[in-house]
Amino acid sequence: MTTDTPSAFDPPSMINLVGVGMTRDAARQVYEQAGIGPGDIQVCELHDCFAQNELITYEGLGLMKELPYERAMIAIGAAATMHRAYELTVEYVRERKVFGKPIVDFQNTRFTLAEIKATVLASRLFADYIVQKWIDGSLDSATAAMGKVWLTDRQCEVIDRCLQFFGGFGYMMEYPIARMYVDARVQRIYGGSNEIQKELVGRDL
Ligand SMILES: Cc1cc2nc3c(=O)[nH]c(=O)nc-3n(C[C@H](O)[C@H](O)[C@H](O)COP(=O)(O)OP(=O)(O)OC[C@H]3O[C@@H](n4cnc5c(N)ncnc54)[C@H](O)[C@@H]3O)c2cc1C
Repeated sequence: MTTDTPSAFDPPSMINLVGVGMTRDAARQVYEQAGIGPGDIQVCELHDCFAQNELITYEGLGLMKELPYERAMIAIGAAATMHRAYELTVEYVRERKVFGKPIVDFQNTRFTLAEIKATVLASRLFADYIVQKWIDGSLDSATAAMGKVWLTDRQCEVIDRCLQFFGGFGYMMEYPIARMYVDARVQRIYGGSNEIQKELVGRDL
């Protein structure tokens, strides 16, 4: 395991496993992930090894203290992506005509987009709150966990609703909304699943 020692302004660093104890058979098994671009996932078996404390932490900054920042990044990304999905959808429903009129002219479209717009704004404000806490050094584990759960749940919900307006085109990877849909799903899993985040918030009640 390796870490970089951060300066005062470095973002949180990642821990990299460098093939410790990986067997040849395990290394051959590569899984293709569903979204977020190409990336090999391999089963890595660790035998008879341990991590010395100084290798996964540095003085005064333990690994556990970094986790809220990873969750905050995921939460902020969720808010930004939702905003872009909303913009793309508004553009599309103005252009695409069905039954002789643009999709935006159907009341259902306007009502749904009104709800989405409110969700996107609320998400932006939550993300700004997290950013402010990050800047002033008061970002705590529960706030980051709440942000990760709430914003990534909203991200999946908003993108799913936006995609619906694209009809069949929304299911084609040529359209960015399809890529957003596929990529959003992992946001509720990585960085610690959303269920684990709720456990963390629950401990802080
Ligand atoms: C694309 C991708 C990139 C990743 N990148 C990294 C990385 O860079 N670094 C890294 O360290 N990890 C990374 N991960 C791993 C990721 O953090 C884990 O997948 C995630 O924390 C969930 O752990 P798990 O997959 O072992 O799920 P499990 O622990 O097997 O959990 C499966 C499901 O069980 C349920 N569950 C589990 N525990 C509880 C509980 N206590 N209460 C209620 N329900 C529960 C949840 O629904 C959970 O989603 C990545 C994963 C993916 C998919």
